[in-house]
Amino acid sequence: MAYQKIDQYDEAVTQQLSAHYSESLRLLGEDVSREGLVKTPERVAKAMQMLTVGYTQDAAAILNGAKFREEYSEMVIVKDIELYSLCEHHLLPFFGKAHVAYIPDGYITGLSKIARVVDCFARRLQVQERLTHQIVDVIQETLKPLGVAVVIEAQHLCMMMRGVQKQNSITTTSAFSGCFKDGKTRSEFLQLISQRRN
Ligand SMILES: [Zn+2]
Repeated sequence: MAYQKIDQYDEAVTQQLSAHYSESLRLLGEDVSREGLVKTPERVAKAMQMLTVGYTQDAAAILNGAKFREEYSEMVIVKDIELYSLCEHHLLPFFGKAHVAYIPDGYITGLSKIARVVDCFARRLQVQERLTHQIVDVIQETLKPLGVAVVIEAQHLCMMMRGVQKQNSITTTSAFSGCFKDGKTRSEFLQLISQRRN
């Protein structure tokens, strides 16, 4: 299933958040009693809890839960992982793709776990640079591979909708550990992720 609805909302948090969102809408000049807005504060309260659910998740536990001994020591790449996050400066979305690679040293993990680790950190208030490093660090610390590489390409609505209004700019961040600090391994990875599907 591509999309899993999260239905574990904290009732007390939802109620308090709803009251604050209601007040925010009023301050923005809205009539919060009009039909279209009646349930909006509660919907936003739930949406924001879902979009920040990463605070309750443990990325290391996700990886440790599917850590297998394997004598495979070639580069493992998971490309084009869909990514949705919220910029912590404006609470507006940034979204794009993450590419993750590691070279195992005795342990591998399930490929779907890599995507879950990306989600775990993306569903928090973020800056793209920190998100990129957090993914590298947790894979390095948990699987202890020879190296980890992460590249994230994302568009930021805070740039697109306001401020400079650069509609087509894509922000690219990267972080490398271990053998990916070596130029040859790194360029092999960068070349592999730049090969687009036809
Ligand atoms: Zn921003």
